[in-house]
Amino acid sequence: RIVLLNGDFLDFADAKLPIMDRGFLFADGIYEVSAVLNGRTIDNEAHLARLDRSLRAIDIPNPYSTAEWVGFQNDLITRNGLREGTVYIQVTRGVAEREFTYAEGLTPTVLMVTQAKNLLTSKLAVDGATVITLPDLRWARRDIKSVGLLAQVLAKQAAKRAGADEAWMVEDGLVTEGASSSAFIVTRDGALVTRPFTQAVLPGVTRRAITALIRETDLRLDERAFSVAEALAAQEAFYTSASSFVTPVASLDGDPIGTGKPGPIAIKLREFYIRTALAG
Ligand code: PLP
Repeated sequence: RIVLLNGDFLDFADAKLPIMDRGFLFADGIYEVSAVLNGRTIDNEAHLARLDRSLRAIDIPNPYSTAEWVGFQNDLITRNGLREGTVYIQVTRGVAEREFTYAEGLTPTVLMVTQAKNLLTSKLAVDGATVITLPDLRWARRDIKSVGLLAQVLAKQAAKRAGADEAWMVEDGLVTEGASSSAFIVTRDGALVTRPFTQAVLPGVTRRAITALIRETDLRLDERAFSVAEALAAQEAFYTSASSFVTPVASLDGDPIGTGKPGPIAIKLREFYIRTALAG
């Protein structure tokens, strides 16, 4: 596998970073993930726009134009013969002596890695995902796609230990989002509910695309926070992310959601999203 490190295409084993990279020392950096289907990125413009937004939010200059990013992504996808999977980008503030404050003009470290994965055929899409709820232990700027992911690592591992597929994080009794996904429910009266974009959640690119699809239908969209109790009483629940598209939720904390099987709205949205992505 070839990776891109600071503008150079290298063999995976030859790509090395200095120990004083601030990404390693402080998690002083951000990342982005785009899905790849049939060798083409999905919703990539929105991912690169969010990359730029995350960089601005933490005062790291964007090292490349959108066209340059796209060029690197496509080059790496081609070099690795990637048909289906993800392309991961990480930008850190760069390398310096360990001090909290940083000098202006550091050269950001840029890493790009592809991962081959089956995205279209998913056991979770067929069976529904099992989800547990956990307190949201993250910081107050969750709208930044920070590489500081310790809270999510612990949440995902707790889910794994519980035999679950995803963790939904809860603050003040309300679901913020999944550890690596945006959370939706479908209420008994048929409204699709998902949290609005504030600093409390990551502005999910897939969530944005799905809500745009929903607005084209006669389904009702209600952008507000929902409680765990409301989720348990919902007729359906699902989550969205770049690499999982739309994934129906079968159960929450061991209790079935709706019938305990993937709901028709989640199934339709998944199909429609994938069809649109493949056609795009
Ligand atoms: N929320 C969090 C905390 C995430 O980590 C992710 C993706 O990794 C998402 C939501 C989904 O965002 P996207 O649809 O842009 O992948």
